[in-house]
Amino acid sequence: MQKTYFIKTFGCAQNVADSERIANAYESKGMKKASSIESAHHVVINTCMIREKAETRVYGLVHNLSLVRKREGLPEKIVVTGCMVGMALRDSSGKFLKLIRQRMPAVDEFLPIEEVGFDHAPLRTEITHAWVPISNGCNNFCTFCVVPFTRGREISRPYTDVIGECEQLAKTGYKKITLLGMNVNSYGADLVSGLGNIHVLRDLEKTYFPKSSESKKTGFVLPSGKKIEPVFVKHLNRLRIPTLFPYLLEDIAHVRGIELIDFLSSNPWDFSDKLIDVISRNPNITRSIHLPVQSGSNSVLKRMNRWYTKEIYFSLIERIRTKIPHVRFSTDIIVGFCGETEEEFEDTCKLVQKVGFYKAYISLYSDRPQTAAHKVFHDDVVHKEKKRRWLILEKMINSPRQKGSVH
Ligand code: SF4
Repeated sequence: MQKTYFIKTFGCAQNVADSERIANAYESKGMKKASSIESAHHVVINTCMIREKAETRVYGLVHNLSLVRKREGLPEKIVVTGCMVGMALRDSSGKFLKLIRQRMPAVDEFLPIEEVGFDHAPLRTEITHAWVPISNGCNNFCTFCVVPFTRGREISRPYTDVIGECEQLAKTGYKKITLLGMNVNSYGADLVSGLGNIHVLRDLEKTYFPKSSESKKTGFVLPSGKKIEPVFVKHLNRLRIPTLFPYLLEDIAHVRGIELIDFLSSNPWDFSDKLIDVISRNPNITRSIHLPVQSGSNSVLKRMNRWYTKEIYFSLIERIRTKIPHVRFSTDIIVGFCGETEEEFEDTCKLVQKVGFYKAYISLYSDRPQTAAHKVFHDDVVHKEKKRRWLILEKMINSPRQKGSVH
């Protein structure tokens, strides 16, 4: 009998893309997708740790599967991968691995997502739209965010691999591409510095904050011989890491047959004028830009270690609007971050009104292990208050009545 597999994916689009590659690895072993999780021989759970709730659901699912296994003999194998395993790998104390082993004794294998790698072709689930990961990990260490601890430092896929994949997709009929990265528009910092090694990157802080004289010496040569200069974005009087994203985006926009390209998740501090120009002159690049703001209060942004102020964020919105007619914005907002006062929350409401987002992913702050916020601040806004603030913003941005009125 042909063995079957089932992949349960939690979390973001990056996890969805990773699951497509895991599916292909199973298919190449001669296994086929099961019609349900309960009937599969192998179950893979691709986990998310962005909020405590997502983590708790994984524990619950594994427990339920262990009961099914006792009753029916299936699944034969339970594999856990994704962010929880990434966190366990990077926690040198070994405490997190011990914890997840204790809480999920039925798991047969903890699979680091790095072992799946970018090289496995994905088994795509859609026929005209494709997710294309261009980088993995993040170097930013926003104080609330667990990603740098679960996915590690940012590593970019080779430039020509990404272009090659997009050309191949176009040839096979794909029309829409979503480029994925935790900090998608900082793509290429490691390529520019010629360092693809995560351990080396850790020791080279200087690489990320070069002095302007050093930055001029860097550059990136494509296999075609074309040399491209990295793009720096200056914020708060310091230069951000070099990015190749505008070039990559434009090269993909020129791939014949690709009708729409979008990208997730971009960060305000790497949104250069060059990137704005590239979007404005290529009509097949999205006019719906996702630009996470997280808070409209400067003091909260500072506590979050976000490198912009509400004024910088709004002036970026204005610059984009000036150059790209009909652009619209969506965002991510966290309510109830450590110490968020009513006044600070009201600053967020004011920014929301000023920008007029057409959509927002609003989340209640969730204290996550390893993060600076977990270590330094107190998760002191009570759940009821977080919920109240969430509802206010939800009504302002996402309620059907409001939706038609924002630009
Ligand atoms: S930039 Fe995004 S992924 Fe990176 S630490 Fe900040 S919130 Fe997390």
